[in-house]
Amino acid sequence: THFGFQTVPEESKESLVKNVFNSVASSYDIMNDAMSLGIHRLWKDDYVSQLKPGSKGPMRCIDVAGGTGDIALRILDFSRENYADRETSVDVVDINGEMLREGFKRFKKTMYHNTPQIAFHEGNAQELPETQFSSNTYDLYTIAFGIRNCTSIPDVLKEAYRVLKPGGTFACLEFSKVNNPLLSAVYDQYSFSVIPLLGTILAADRASYQYLVESIRRFPSQPDFAKMIQDAGFVTGGMHEGKGGAWRDLWGGIACIHTGVKV
Ligand code: SAM
Repeated sequence: THFGFQTVPEESKESLVKNVFNSVASSYDIMNDAMSLGIHRLWKDDYVSQLKPGSKGPMRCIDVAGGTGDIALRILDFSRENYADRETSVDVVDINGEMLREGFKRFKKTMYHNTPQIAFHEGNAQELPETQFSSNTYDLYTIAFGIRNCTSIPDVLKEAYRVLKPGGTFACLEFSKVNNPLLSAVYDQYSFSVIPLLGTILAADRASYQYLVESIRRFPSQPDFAKMIQDAGFVTGGMHEGKGGAWRDLWGGIACIHTGVKV
């Protein structure tokens, strides 16, 4: 591709990803809505409702690759609205300061601003500093639409395992593999033509959005990713109220939720 991503050496990937998100940070939330026709909101709501933060009392959560705080806000709202919980907290971690700044601005308008319930940290999912993120600390680790941008998925999972408490939950929301051939054809058409075009029109940035589409294609399939989660030490399956399985497809696999528990 003109973005040349596939041939870029691994060590440059992080700085490339950083540049992509630097250039999209201010338009990120609007673009998300435009590109997914608002559907990402439904998926994120579904994801957080499945995790039921606050249902067993206040939780310590870490939202990695948390960007502008979309998941963090939903976690805090869910636990407050459903369980009157004002003690659950979320540490948002992202490699990109611009995305975090957008998140900080957004939280300024909420009741969580200036409370111990929310904090933003610049950091790499693959090597969370031990001094800041000690082992066995969190009840819930979330990563939404972020892990596919990381150079080493096993390193991300290793860190997730380390920072979670025994019994803590790892939960990933990510674009995945569409199983139905008809849906797959429509989706391909949409993502390879419409998304880069929207990137050009709305953000004057075709290359970054082209990269986002390609990163989705390269991400492992549902069973391969589930295997990686197990290899990191997590127990998967039995998490979905009787349905079993390590993952749950959303919209035929356009997106998918994988979960695992630290033993
Ligand atoms: N979780 C947010 C959401 O669902 O709206 C943001 C998702 S955004 C598509 C991906 C985010 O991953 C970006 O904010 C980017 O900076 C971050 N990211 C990419 N590589 C990362 C890494 N190695 N460590 C931490 N964050 C990373």
